[in-house]
Amino acid sequence: MTQELTVQLAGTKREKPDQANLGFGRIFTDHMFMMDYTEGQGWHDARIVPYQPIALDPSAMVFHYGQTVFEGMKAYLTKEGRVFLFRPEKNMERLNRSNERLCIPQIDGDYAIEGLKKLIDIDREWIPTAEGTSLYVRPFIIATEPFLGVAPAKNYTFMIIMSPVGLYYKEGIAPVKILVENDFVRAVKGGTGEAKTGGNYAASLKGQEIASEKNYSQVLWLDGVERKYIEEVGSMNVFFKIDGEVITPELNGSILHGVTRDSVIQLLKHWNIPVAERRISMDEVAEAYRNGKLEEAFGTGTAAIISPIGEFLWNDEKMVLNGGKTGELSKRIYDTITSIQKGAQKDEFGWIT
Ligand code: PMP
Repeated sequence: MTQELTVQLAGTKREKPDQANLGFGRIFTDHMFMMDYTEGQGWHDARIVPYQPIALDPSAMVFHYGQTVFEGMKAYLTKEGRVFLFRPEKNMERLNRSNERLCIPQIDGDYAIEGLKKLIDIDREWIPTAEGTSLYVRPFIIATEPFLGVAPAKNYTFMIIMSPVGLYYKEGIAPVKILVENDFVRAVKGGTGEAKTGGNYAASLKGQEIASEKNYSQVLWLDGVERKYIEEVGSMNVFFKIDGEVITPELNGSILHGVTRDSVIQLLKHWNIPVAERRISMDEVAEAYRNGKLEEAFGTGTAAIISPIGEFLWNDEKMVLNGGKTGELSKRIYDTITSIQKGAQKDEFGWIT
């Protein structure tokens, strides 16, 4: 796709937030990227415009049947003042896989990355500099056609908005408590679990709410058929270190293809640490725990990078790992990936754009 990208700059620049209290996802930069899709015409009118509310018809299909996809990635400012993106091509590939599942037209990933680079350049001053902060990037597509029929829409809008975000955990990396969910499921094989689409997240809220009420920070999701095999934790992929081997559930059709997951697997192989992608049940994890062989468990995702698990509650069994402290391997992976993202460590893997 070769089309001109028009730029309309904001008349006034808004005040930058206090970097000590950024939190996550409530503050947005001065500009956003947009382009529209019209059946017969394809994607058109790529533009960078001031961040602002958008007008949609109340009958826009996204409001009714959830035809929408999104991505999440981060931009980092290095000490030398360069801007790094972490594996953005993987996010665009995944966006197109989600598009395929949701019957949304494919986008040109390279063109979207070029648009993103331009957008980041314009809003460069919004990239926070404090330790552990970054600029969160949210590309997404919505079905805009005004129509109440259940069918793929004929019109869409693709947008990229950006939000300066703080350290996920104030202490840097801290273990979380996980409740194993036996009733609700996040996704099923044949469903949309592999796609990054709003409905999956709406479906996850109830389980998350119950976990929060019990003072657990995330839910561990089991498979939708037998409630036996482990899928994900919260909105992260999950890894277990059992007797020296690292195991993560295989991508079975209902698990999101995490970019961090893929990076962690590459890193473990590079370090010659045995790693397996296979089915793993909660019974196996509990058995390993009882035998003293469950060394570590952690979640992986763009937001926290590595989220060590300090405790599982499964039915009435409480399992405390590492005395509730961050494990050695979790820390090593976290330090390595964050150092590469900040440009403090050589990128041997070709992950940085
Ligand atoms: N699973 C789910 C359901 C997610 O929403 C995310 C966040 N994108 C992940 C896993 C982790 O993916 P990534 O490492 O690409 O952020």
